[in-house]
Amino acid sequence: MIYQLPAYLRNIQKIVMDADVQNTALARRVRDRLPDLEQEVLRAGEALVPDQEQAFLYLKHYKGRFLRFCPGTKHYRCCGYRIIHIGENCPLACSYCILKAYFQDRVLKVWANQDDLWRELDEKFQGSPKRQFRVGTGEFTDSLALEPITGYSRDLLAFLGNYPNCCLELKSKVVDLSWMDAVKRPDRVLPAWSLNSPEVVDAEERGVAALEERLAAARDCVRSGFRVCLHFDPIIMYPAWEEGYSEIIEMLFDYLRPADIAYLSLGSFRGMPELFDFIARQWPEAGYIYQEYVPGLDGKMRLLRPLRVKQFRFIVKRLRQGGLDRQLYFCMESDAVWRAVLGITPKELGGLDTHLLKQAFGIED
Ligand code: SF4
Repeated sequence: MIYQLPAYLRNIQKIVMDADVQNTALARRVRDRLPDLEQEVLRAGEALVPDQEQAFLYLKHYKGRFLRFCPGTKHYRCCGYRIIHIGENCPLACSYCILKAYFQDRVLKVWANQDDLWRELDEKFQGSPKRQFRVGTGEFTDSLALEPITGYSRDLLAFLGNYPNCCLELKSKVVDLSWMDAVKRPDRVLPAWSLNSPEVVDAEERGVAALEERLAAARDCVRSGFRVCLHFDPIIMYPAWEEGYSEIIEMLFDYLRPADIAYLSLGSFRGMPELFDFIARQWPEAGYIYQEYVPGLDGKMRLLRPLRVKQFRFIVKRLRQGGLDRQLYFCMESDAVWRAVLGITPKELGGLDTHLLKQAFGIED
């Protein structure tokens, strides 16, 4: 079969593999889908030396833990999400991407020793059958950006179909629904898209699907029996931000009904100082980094709290007018911001992790 690669994947020039994963099903599939690319197999113990001139896809034998807690922060309200770690870095290029400050190199890495992944997940999910897990792959990479060449989400969904105590969120800015027919229980899968104002998408996101395409894909998922999640993160302050965010919120309700949405997160742009330095060097026209930021308790720079509250109140008011309420939550905000904007704290919701677990599994409060 000839695979039509999306434009954002066409600059990959070479596949590099660790020797002991070169014959895994995943590595064979990637080689089949990218038959014209140069291939290199690293000998046991040989490390990849990234060449900044060349775009690699590195199929790696990952030796760490696959299932982890999201790197939230103890100073702000964290949502208790678990990450299934399937790789690192992203072929898309959003100026604000926090991964640029997380990882030292830009090499696209995919953990190709899936048997180890299956073993670890089975131990965890089978070992605690009464416990419910809300998991996702979209923290250290985009969940679906590499799907056309790896089929990783499809594999994961086929595997997780045996674990009804697990609900997987696939968070993305591209449209790839090729995983859908591998799903056994649509009520245990949450396709998710990040949204932003049209101006932010145009100026700051590269390689991504248009907002209309993301929302149309979300609607297709709903029509196929899924509920979806949405993320307004990072919300960015720029001169006409109110108009821009009003526009995307109106658009969102053209495509989806409130009951279609399991949850929707809101987060104002934030990051470690290194991220701001990186953006200033790489994307000098990104004026939003020169707003009024102050270091938070976790060392990340955030907009001054009154400005964040102003952003959130504006957006939440419109989302509530559209019929959303219990689905709304903040990513890493303080109780003071929760109270000022939503009029409630996570504790009053029964704890944010419990609340979102119920939203994910469709359990009535
Ligand atoms: S889609 Fe997400 S992970 Fe990829 S570059 Fe944009 S912000 Fe980063």
